[in-house]
Amino acid sequence: MPFASLGLSPALVHAAEKAGFVAPTPIQAGAIPSILQGADLLGAAQTGSGKTAAFALPLLQQLQLSATQGPGGPRRVRALVLVPTRELAAQVGEVLRSLAQHLQQPLKVAIVFGGVSINPQMLGLRGGADIVVATPGRLLDLVEHNALRLSAVAHLVLDEADRLLDLGFAEELQRVLALLPAQRQNLFFSATFPAAVQALADGLLKNPVRVEVPHTPGNEPAIEQRAIAVDASRRTQLLRHLVKEHNWSRVLVFVATQYAAEHVAEKLYKAGIFASPFHGGLSQGARNQVLQEFKDERWQVVVTTDLAARGIDIAQLPAVVNYDLPRSAVDYVHRIGRTGRAGESGMAVSFVTADAEAHFRLIEKRQHLALPREQIAGFEPTETPAPPSSTDPQGTGGIKGKRPSKKDKLRAAAAAAATESPAAAHKKGS
Ligand code: AMP
Repeated sequence: MPFASLGLSPALVHAAEKAGFVAPTPIQAGAIPSILQGADLLGAAQTGSGKTAAFALPLLQQLQLSATQGPGGPRRVRALVLVPTRELAAQVGEVLRSLAQHLQQPLKVAIVFGGVSINPQMLGLRGGADIVVATPGRLLDLVEHNALRLSAVAHLVLDEADRLLDLGFAEELQRVLALLPAQRQNLFFSATFPAAVQALADGLLKNPVRVEVPHTPGNEPAIEQRAIAVDASRRTQLLRHLVKEHNWSRVLVFVATQYAAEHVAEKLYKAGIFASPFHGGLSQGARNQVLQEFKDERWQVVVTTDLAARGIDIAQLPAVVNYDLPRSAVDYVHRIGRTGRAGESGMAVSFVTADAEAHFRLIEKRQHLALPREQIAGFEPTETPAPPSSTDPQGTGGIKGKRPSKKDKLRAAAAAAATESPAAAHKKGS
C-alpha cells in the first residue's frame, strides 16, 4: 500500500519518500486516514513502529489546510505534542521539521524542554508556533512566563503516555490539560496500558479509533537475545572481547548507575575503544553532543543508565548489552528495543552474574523467555549462584519487581505441602 492511498497530500507523500519511507508501517496505515478525518486516536505502539510519522504526517496536513488565522493572538499554539524526555522532544521535533520543509507554506515547529536556559526558548516562541513539542514541566514554565498560550490548541498528541506517568508527570499533565480548549483532537500513544494509563486515555479521548500494532513475529524486529554467564569482575573484559569479535559498529551498553557509566566507559576508552558515558548527571549540552556523535558513528560504545532505554531512536543500532541487568522486565523490553529498529535485525546480550541469576530468571519468566546461559571461552564464570535463602525463598534479593506474586506464593505453598506429604511426593516422583 503506498503512502498516497492514505489520503496524504502530494507534498507529504513526497516528504515521506524523502525521509526514505517506501511503504507505511502498520501503525501508519492504521492511523493516518483516521487522524486526517479528525478522529481521536488510541495507538498501542512501541517506539520503532514508525509512530512518530504516523501522527506527524497527518498533523502537518491538517495544520496546512486549516486557517492560519484564528483566536489566541500572536502567542498561540495550534498543535501540542507532549513527550516524557528532552531527548524524545528533540527527536520528534526534528522529524516534524524535516517533514514540514517539503510543505508549500512553512509551518513553525518549536521544541522546548527543561535542563537548558529558558530564554532562547522564549525568544523562539515569539509570534507563536504552529506546533510545540514539549516536556510538561518546561511547557508550564513557559505558560507562566506568558511565552505561549494554549487556548487555541486544536490537536494534542500524548507520546509515550506510559512513560509520562512513569516519570511522575501526572500532575503537570493535568495542569496542561486544564489549559487546553475542550474542542480538540486527541492522539494518544503508549507502548503499555497499565490502569493509570488506561484511565488517562479514557478521560481524554472521545470515541477514539484504536490502532494496535500486534506483536506478531512478522512485524517485530528480529532481536537475537543472548544471556552470557560471567563473573561480575570480568564483564568489562568480556565486553571488549564481544565488541571486537562481532565488529559492532556501535553498541549501547546499559549499567545500573551514573558512576558505573563513567567507570565502564573510561575503562573501555583506556583500552582503545571509543566509548563515552551518557546519563542524567551530564549537562543537557553534553547529552545532546554525545547522542549526536553516537548517531554520527563517532563513538563506538555509549555506556548509559536507563535514561536511554526508551524513546531514543538511533537507526541501525546493531547491539545492546545489559552489563547490569535492568530492574524490571518492562525496562528489559525497552532496553532491548533500542536495537532491531524498524525491521532491522539486532542483538541484545545480557551479562548474568551469579548474584543476578535469580533476578534474570524472573525477567525471563515475565517475558516468557528461556535463554540458555552461554559461556564464552576464557570468560567462564567461577562464581555460582547462591541458593535461595529461607527469608528470600525466590532468591530475588528483594529487588524491585522481584516480589513473589500471588501465584508464586500458591505454587510455593503447594510445593511445600507436596514435600511434607509422602503420598504427594510419591505421586510427583512417579
Ligand atoms: P518511531 O517509531 O517513530 O521512533 O520510528 C522508528 C524508525 O522507523 C525511525 O528511524 C523512522 O525513520 C523509521 N520509519 C518510520 N516510518 C517508516 C517507514 N514507513 N518505512 C521505513 N522506516 C520508517
